[in-house]
Amino acid sequence: MSVVVVGSVNLDHVVRAPRIPGPGETILGTDVAEHPGGKGANQAVGAGRSGAETVFVGALGDDAAAARLLSELRGAGVRTRTRTASVPTGTAWITVGDDGENVIIVVPGANASITALTDPEREIVASAKILLMQQEIPESSMVDAARTSQGLVLLNAAPTREVSPDLLVLLDVLIVNEHEAADLNGAPAPAPELITRLLEQVPAVVLTLGAEGSLIAVRGSEPVAIPAHRVRAVDTTGAGDAFCGALAAELDRSDPAGDLLERLTAAARFATSVSALAVQRPGAASGIPTRDEVLKAYP
Ligand code: ADP
Repeated sequence: MSVVVVGSVNLDHVVRAPRIPGPGETILGTDVAEHPGGKGANQAVGAGRSGAETVFVGALGDDAAAARLLSELRGAGVRTRTRTASVPTGTAWITVGDDGENVIIVVPGANASITALTDPEREIVASAKILLMQQEIPESSMVDAARTSQGLVLLNAAPTREVSPDLLVLLDVLIVNEHEAADLNGAPAPAPELITRLLEQVPAVVLTLGAEGSLIAVRGSEPVAIPAHRVRAVDTTGAGDAFCGALAAELDRSDPAGDLLERLTAAARFATSVSALAVQRPGAASGIPTRDEVLKAYP
């Protein structure tokens, strides 16, 4: 088994309305839709579409949303090892105004039930070359997974929350955008300074900078800048998830004995192409391209 994602899976409910209502206000919406979501599941789809043998480890409720989400994951070539929790599948309730503003409430549901891994889940993690995690499940299970891993341990520190020293010491690569890096640093700072501070805590950092691209930094070496492709973005919501999944998949193709900076740089170049295509399509997981589409667009 090659890429294992231990993380969240949600059903996103998206309501469109002329504007975001204020407290106590009722307004008429114009459209409602459901989309598969959760950073764990989105990144597993990214790794699966990028051609890696991928397993998603997570939790779902005993409900209709679970069946739908499992079939979305499997449709992207992702194998699933999910448990059934006694609470509903995680949901996100998103309202988008015509001006593009949004408000989001996430109800973690089953995702919050993963406080430790089961023995079969540990076996899957132990067999992985790449372990990829995000911050939408309890940290205790992430520490458990990172301790079990015998491969590279990647954490996308999103959404922002404190990362305990117990988890930080187990990481090989931290993937953050500028906001997450500033939060971990305790204050905003120029990108090179954020990287220096983060490298005091983890051996390698991938700092994503939206349309500016990304910076790849490994302790003891000069950071490498990877520019983004110039494209007309229509939906950047899933950019980070597409990037992380593709990065994990491409790292999985590289030689584990190779130089980490070289491996990360090559993987980030591929991930940059994947996310450039993803931002040109609507939807988070649904906008993530296949490996063939990526190689055709950016040979
Ligand atoms: P997040 O979604 O986590 O905030 P970023 O916005 O930094 O992550 O995007 C991740 C990656 O996606 C970037 O490093 C870049 O390669 C790509 N990307 C994001 N926005 C754009 C854009 N507007 N044009 C081209 N590539 C983009």
